Amino acid sequence: MISRIDLRGDALPEGPALRDLLPRADFDVQAALEKVRPICEAVHHRGDAALIDFAEKFDGVRLESVRVPAAALHKALEELDPAVRAALEESIRRARLVHRAQRRTTHTTQVVPGGSVTEKWVPVDRVGLYAPGGRAVYPSTVVMNVVPAQEAGVESIALASPAQADFGGLPHPTILAACALLGVDEVYAAGGATAVAMFAYGTESCAPAPMVMGPGNIWVAAAKRYFAGKIGIDTEAGPTEIAILADDTADPVHVAADLISQAEHDPLAASVLVTDSVSLADAVEKELEPQVAASKHVEERIRPALTGRQSAIVLVDGIDEGLRVVDAYGAEHLEIQTADAAAVADRVRNAGAIFIGPWAPVSLGDYCAGSNHVLPTGGCACHSSGLSVQSFLRGIHIVDYTKDALADVAHHVVTLAEAEDLPAHGAAIKARFGWKVPTSK
Ligand code: NAD
Repeated sequence: MISRIDLRGDALPEGPALRDLLPRADFDVQAALEKVRPICEAVHHRGDAALIDFAEKFDGVRLESVRVPAAALHKALEELDPAVRAALEESIRRARLVHRAQRRTTHTTQVVPGGSVTEKWVPVDRVGLYAPGGRAVYPSTVVMNVVPAQEAGVESIALASPAQADFGGLPHPTILAACALLGVDEVYAAGGATAVAMFAYGTESCAPAPMVMGPGNIWVAAAKRYFAGKIGIDTEAGPTEIAILADDTADPVHVAADLISQAEHDPLAASVLVTDSVSLADAVEKELEPQVAASKHVEERIRPALTGRQSAIVLVDGIDEGLRVVDAYGAEHLEIQTADAAAVADRVRNAGAIFIGPWAPVSLGDYCAGSNHVLPTGGCACHSSGLSVQSFLRGIHIVDYTKDALADVAHHVVTLAEAEDLPAHGAAIKARFGWKVPTSK
């Protein structure tokens, strides 16, 4: 069911050469970019009419309006299963605890007497958030998007999720209920690239947003890449990934269950076990068959994900080599199921989020750990972080110098300006001191 990559014996190669040996999905965002370009431009030129046409084409339902009426949000919350409501409320409570602690405070550094730099943190005015809803619906992603935006202090929060044919063209009722629970009342039925374009350009019913955040499939990732540099976007958070670094102390039943839990998202989802124990690898492989057979979504997602080129059991000589492999891979989610898991986790450098030991599975992080589940995929964890309060903030430096403090450093500024052949920069200093470079006291 799942392939094996045997890296035992020879010394592991360095950097990109090691990465090339590891499994990864064929997720060609660049090719998808060419397909989303006309979609984005149609939304630009035809606004809501284009959104309605694309919803009919991709989501199979003709919308009356893209904006979700307030009454639909209230109704969804009223009709929400009380157990789901309680679970969402607990998820929100825990996420709020963690994200509130991420708030940044204004800080002033006295660089020299009379010269200071203050760094203040200002939230973006408005953000468009995306909660996926193609193959599965993600009210949990509503929580993970909205809570950090609210804790950052973003005043205008809009959310989009695909129209659902089974619900009269509205996003899934649990998505709407989660929005209502969080106090988000600006919600749109728009999916994939069309949602990103709606926020980026604005339409008759949706004001433009200078920032678009949230995970999604390849079309969402491609649209975000299309708008990169024009609006603020988070990292590309595409098909989910789990890597598990495990030794012979790990329980194969847990390991198999956790690999399947992420394969359930998408046929392109990646499940990777890195282990120095052949007996664990054998036991996990044996355990996968009955657990997969007992799962839902087997043929459309789990089996293609586990048998795809993006999933594998990687055999290594020891935990040191395993750490090199997981660092080269840069998993969205990394579980450490080894002896002394906390110490091993401490040595990891590249991962979206790390889950330590047998009692912190990725499913906990997907819903109720308090951590954020919108995380970098496709190796982006080597350079990017998951969604946080910081994602919605801009740090602004405020420079405040007295005449004496400027005079004191003026000769350095003038020297550097001349070294860069930008004499007007130096002149802007000299003009303040009778066109001379002041000598420091
Ligand atoms: P989605 O909402 O991302 O995409 C659905 C939309 O895709 C449709 O509404 C449509 O607009 C568009 N689309 C479909 N076919 C198209 C085509 N041929 N051309 C152009 N556009 C098309 O839902 P999904 O497909 O279920 O994907 C959700 C993804 O998000 C999964 O891969 C899941 O693993 C991932 N996810 C990632 C994270 C993370 O943090 N990395 C979190 C949650 C979900």
